[in-house]
Amino acid sequence: MTKVLKTINEKILHENISLIPTMGALHQGHLSLVNIGQNNKNMKTLVSIFINRRQFNEELDFINYPVDLERDIELLTQMNVDYIFIPTEAYLFPKDLENTVLSGKLGNLYEGLSRPGHFDGVLTVVNRLFELIKPKEAIFGKKDAQQLFLIRKMVISSDLNVVIKEGDIIRELNGLAKSSRNRRLTEKGKETAAQIFSNLQKTKEKLVSTANIEDSLEYGRTLFDMSEIKLDYLDIVDRDKFNFDNKNSKKLLLIIAAYVENIRLIDNIEINL
Ligand code: AMP
Repeated sequence: MTKVLKTINEKILHENISLIPTMGALHQGHLSLVNIGQNNKNMKTLVSIFINRRQFNEELDFINYPVDLERDIELLTQMNVDYIFIPTEAYLFPKDLENTVLSGKLGNLYEGLSRPGHFDGVLTVVNRLFELIKPKEAIFGKKDAQQLFLIRKMVISSDLNVVIKEGDIIRELNGLAKSSRNRRLTEKGKETAAQIFSNLQKTKEKLVSTANIEDSLEYGRTLFDMSEIKLDYLDIVDRDKFNFDNKNSKKLLLIIAAYVENIRLIDNIEINL
């Protein structure tokens, strides 16, 4: 039986919890993370739904973020999730207990360059959820690659006792990475947005065949010039470091943020040279 909770009780603290943090408006990407949690039979799954104001750098983006609580509860109940945790802002962040986690230099690059304070907000809420729930493991999607990297870094540097697991990017048939934000796109916008993935693939092909990173990035960027997609950044990082200090790295990640119909979308694709 799925239980919907507003607060964390003693009982939960005595269980082995697999935590899946979300902001709701759930889709197959979120549910694939739930599946990973459920594969571990020693754990109870707990999905949190909280639209974290601290990670929005634009008020309007926060206000317009999709909400679909009834359906979310229905989906998670159908999946037999053990707990759905829907806290209030006041419960998660009592006034005297604001412990902002700073995301450092990397928190201000790539996604963080365009969204100042975003990753501080993400780390602060994830840290708070860890503190409250004391999960044994927590599961995140590779779609938010920089977020996942920074969370792993926080866990190591703060010596937190939680295993971080990751789930592959779940996509629409046309390649568009599933996202709660896709709900705000028109049908035409969804078709246009599918070019994000096809352009990533073309850029990857170019890089694999030429091994020339600068040329491949330039080629990739021109593909977007010819489309209705407004590119924010298209970059390559070393998967182990999330920077590009090691020019000889063979384990790369091609990362992108772009706007379609004024909606910010992110995606990435792994490249092994
Ligand atoms: P969000 O609700 O957008 O904060 O996302 C909650 C979790 O779901 C994060 O760990 C995301 O990386 C993950 N996620 C979102 N979209 C996808 C996707 N298409 N495939 C896999 N994981 C995803």
